[in-house]
Amino acid sequence: MEVFSPAEENIRPHSLDEFIGQDDLRANLKVYLSAALERRQAMDHTLFYGNPGLGKTTLAQIMAAELGVNLVSTSGPVLERSGDLAAVLTNLGPNDLLFIDEIHRMPPAVEEVLYPALEDFKLDLVIGQGPAARTVKIDLEPFTLVGATTRIGLLSSPLRDRFGVILRMEYYQPEELARIVKRAAKILGVPISEAGALEIGRRARGTPRIANRLLRRVSDFAVVEGDGVVGAEAAAKALERMDVDESGLDQMDRKLLTVLIEHYGGGPAGLKTLAVACSEDVRTLEEIYEPYLIQCGFLKRTPRGRMATAKAYRHLNLPD
Ligand code: ADP
Repeated sequence: MEVFSPAEENIRPHSLDEFIGQDDLRANLKVYLSAALERRQAMDHTLFYGNPGLGKTTLAQIMAAELGVNLVSTSGPVLERSGDLAAVLTNLGPNDLLFIDEIHRMPPAVEEVLYPALEDFKLDLVIGQGPAARTVKIDLEPFTLVGATTRIGLLSSPLRDRFGVILRMEYYQPEELARIVKRAAKILGVPISEAGALEIGRRARGTPRIANRLLRRVSDFAVVEGDGVVGAEAAAKALERMDVDESGLDQMDRKLLTVLIEHYGGGPAGLKTLAVACSEDVRTLEEIYEPYLIQCGFLKRTPRGRMATAKAYRHLNLPD
């Protein structure tokens, strides 16, 4: 499971009103939360999907806070055996919220236990082995499952179908990220100008977690080498020192595009081949680097593999 630094916990928004961006999603979520509160029932099971660092965990915490219920957090890979999930489920209080991060990584046998729990708040426990084995039905308290995934395509359809609410998280606009950066700077006590926040927002790959991380590093440079204030120029200089270019691409993004262009004629090349050539893990390329490069139009996914676009050639100053 992810371990969060105290700084990250402090800057996490605690209510829907503090949560910046994702306006449509936020407006809809507000309605669903209010309806659940009015009916005094557990909220429908909810699935958030989107790239890492866009705010899925934050929204799960906000949901629990807005509903005034306990939040129990776990993650797909931690739930190795069905007994692990059974233990979590039987400990939930009425209307509690169970958050399962990386839900696509839950083993199929554990998933089976989840189905009756989601549908009827019941648990089918098998006691004993062989011919003497018997099934015992245990009643659970009504609860809300909140799942988060970076890969909705890897979720089995029976599991996906059991979510009443499915919400997709989008990349954030630079202006929204600038607001997120200003809010975090205020909490961390970092003096920052409007233009400084926007410079970070523009280069943060549409992702709040990255924006907040860049803010901390840029502030380090401002304190040590400047006057402590994060202005536009100081931010741009610090980001260049960190190898984050004006489109927000870092060394690995540029390496991936360069390898694709120089070694494979711009593609098509398979992701596994690219991962080996870049000495990077396939999952990291697929979940972190590729989505942003595709979103910005530097990379294309084709049935035969990945291809660099004309924009990528221009960005790297390479002849087409
Ligand atoms: P995920 O679960 O999608 O990987 P998190 O919820 O852990 O992402 O968010 C990563 C960080 O970004 C958190 O520390 C949080 O403070 C910040 N963050 C995410 N979304 C927002 C937002 N909309 N407004 C302000 N901060 C945000």
